[in-house]
Amino acid sequence: MKQPRLVVVGNGMAGIRTLEELLKLAPGMYDITVFGAEPYPNYNRILLSPVLAGEQDFDDIVLNPLSWYADNGITLHLGKQVTRIDRARRRVLAADGTEAAYDRLLLATGSLPFILPIPGKDLKGVIGYRDIDDTRTMIEAAKVKRRAVVIGGGLLGLEAANGLMHITRQRLHIDLTTASERGRPAGITPPGTAPRQNPHPGVPALLRSPREPGHREWRRHP
Ligand SMILES: Cc1cc2nc3c(=O)[nH]c(=O)nc-3n(C[C@H](O)[C@H](O)[C@H](O)COP(=O)(O)OP(=O)(O)OC[C@H]3O[C@@H](n4cnc5c(N)ncnc54)[C@H](O)[C@@H]3O)c2cc1C
Repeated sequence: MKQPRLVVVGNGMAGIRTLEELLKLAPGMYDITVFGAEPYPNYNRILLSPVLAGEQDFDDIVLNPLSWYADNGITLHLGKQVTRIDRARRRVLAADGTEAAYDRLLLATGSLPFILPIPGKDLKGVIGYRDIDDTRTMIEAAKVKRRAVVIGGGLLGLEAANGLMHITRQRLHIDLTTASERGRPAGITPPGTAPRQNPHPGVPALLRSPREPGHREWRRHP
């Protein structure tokens, strides 16, 4: 009997982990097709920061090499972004015209970084931090640029700043900005207050909030 067709949109951590479990529980149950907008096999996005910091290479963080897809009979469409789902005909369509029919459809497309809707957001050199291309863009920029501004003092903002400091051996001047005192990064304290523990002591995080009422400037504590 013909296997039902499973199409997975999103070649990321959740989608492929699901397939790994499925292949363990019910090998051969589905005829599987995967669409991935990125032109790479599935990799561990969580480890992008060590790649940025120069501690690991992309190959080190690949979770499933191309051979894994082939060994499991998975049809893989890399670098193909699905732009349409035709539910009536049960088909997905990618931007380049590639189509695949499905009986079951799994959407595992992750998320996108929030880019502030402000003038300048579309300028060259303004990026989010989400994938290996963003990471490589930062690595290349850090070779020739002298200043970086990291907007957002959460986990990824600090990891980006920390990684940039590592690869440039602290040559790069980094401004780390966040919107409010409440949103300030761990380890950054307003003047005159006791420092909290800094998880990334190497980051010279000069924290500047916008020049508007309530503006504050924080210093890095050692
Ligand atoms: C630098 C960094 C560090 C992180 N650190 C941590 C951490 O320490 N701990 C933690 O828990 N989480 C961490 N995260 C978050 C974690 O990586 C995500 O929660 C996780 O990757 C989500 O998995 P996902 O499969 O839902 O999405 P993703 O891994 O983003 O995969 C989605 C995939 O779908 C593809 N896609 C999207 N739209 C389409 C389309 N239309 N057609 C085809 N393909 C499409 C995308 O290109 C992407 O490859 C980190 C993230 C980053 C960026």
